[in-house]
Amino acid sequence: MKSIKKLFFLVIIVGIISAGVFYFRDTKPPQISLTPSSGPISKKSKLLLALNDEGVGLKNLQVMVVQGANQLPLLKRDFPTQTRVVDLELDLASLKLEEGGIQIEVLATDQSIYHFGKGNTVQQLFNLTYDTRPPVISILSKAHNLTKGGSGLVTFSLNEDVDKVGVQFGEHFFPAYLQDSGIYACLFAYPYFVKSEDFVPRVVAQDLAGNERQAGIYYRANNKKFRQRKINISKSFLDQKIPEFEALVPDMTDPLEIFLYVNRDVRTKNRAQIVELGRKTSATPLWEGTFLRQPQTATLAQFADYRTYYHEGKEIDKTVHLGQDLASVAQAEIIAENSGEVVWSEYLGIYGQCVVIDHGLGLQSLYAHMSQVSVQPGEMVTRGQVIGRSGATGMAGGDHLHLGIIVSGVPVQPIEWWDKSWLENNIDSKLKIN
Ligand SMILES: [Zn+2]
Repeated sequence: MKSIKKLFFLVIIVGIISAGVFYFRDTKPPQISLTPSSGPISKKSKLLLALNDEGVGLKNLQVMVVQGANQLPLLKRDFPTQTRVVDLELDLASLKLEEGGIQIEVLATDQSIYHFGKGNTVQQLFNLTYDTRPPVISILSKAHNLTKGGSGLVTFSLNEDVDKVGVQFGEHFFPAYLQDSGIYACLFAYPYFVKSEDFVPRVVAQDLAGNERQAGIYYRANNKKFRQRKINISKSFLDQKIPEFEALVPDMTDPLEIFLYVNRDVRTKNRAQIVELGRKTSATPLWEGTFLRQPQTATLAQFADYRTYYHEGKEIDKTVHLGQDLASVAQAEIIAENSGEVVWSEYLGIYGQCVVIDHGLGLQSLYAHMSQVSVQPGEMVTRGQVIGRSGATGMAGGDHLHLGIIVSGVPVQPIEWWDKSWLENNIDSKLKIN
């Protein structure tokens, strides 16, 4: 009888302890996070709500949107047991919201029996701004005359802060930069490879909430035909050049195979590097006056020469020449075409020893095949300053300078930038309006 009583008490004590353990096993409420958790949003914004309950799991969720006196229910969810992690996308499109501040109120409870069975509840408020109005774009610059392969500039103002702004056509985007005057300036190109019907430049601006507006520009696009050139890749060229390229190629022994790998794969990689460099630019112009064509040089090859390569009479490859080849004497002094900051000064595949100078607004000049380089990245150079000597490093048959002018990663016609009246009419005068 005594032992039965003992057992009875033991059962009760174990029962109380386990009930206690059960009751207290989860005393922490779920965790909530919302992205974005503050700032402007639009009807189209994706609001990501993440819930997490490390204890016994989530029970239910309620989301309300509060604007002034309006309480708008957005979402109600019950979760099956053992639900610990939930990711949801909140869609505000169905709600009638006004411009201005909103509060998103999230209420989540877990499956715990703590708080006399009510579980752990958390309530969190997120303050955001509802914005459905796209930026207003006012184009300020007047005539925009572009020639295929060439450059242009548009200036405009906006009525609000933006996330993304620039000139766009098709897949091509040229960023605009905010000037000290509060006006935006965007240098863009009519790329040599874009068909005239596809060249419809527009200013595109997207505000912080994601509202986007486009504005047309008055422009004239002049067509230009580029030259066709045949290039013979001789055995002696290969004999002379291949040793330099061997370091750039994977296991290959055939000289022609190595040449083609460099002319295609290495060229593509080098182009990607130049596009990358295009983003390292000053938001304000660093150039002053016309660009300096390297003095006393003859032009060996022009911008956008369409090249077909032959070896022993057979066509082996095609490329487009994306700069101006200038030559004088061997190891001639090379000068900075204009003032700016050095953003690259090392070996770059087909370009050999190479310097890139940033002139601001995405405009950069590239100097290739050099034998000697006397500037470092981060160094400011002035127009006409000697930056090294010409050579034949990289994909060059003889000593010359390959000069490239680039607008936000897109190679453009250098001769425009050497032309005083072109520069004044199309670029500098537009910047002066500011
Ligand atoms: Zn060249």
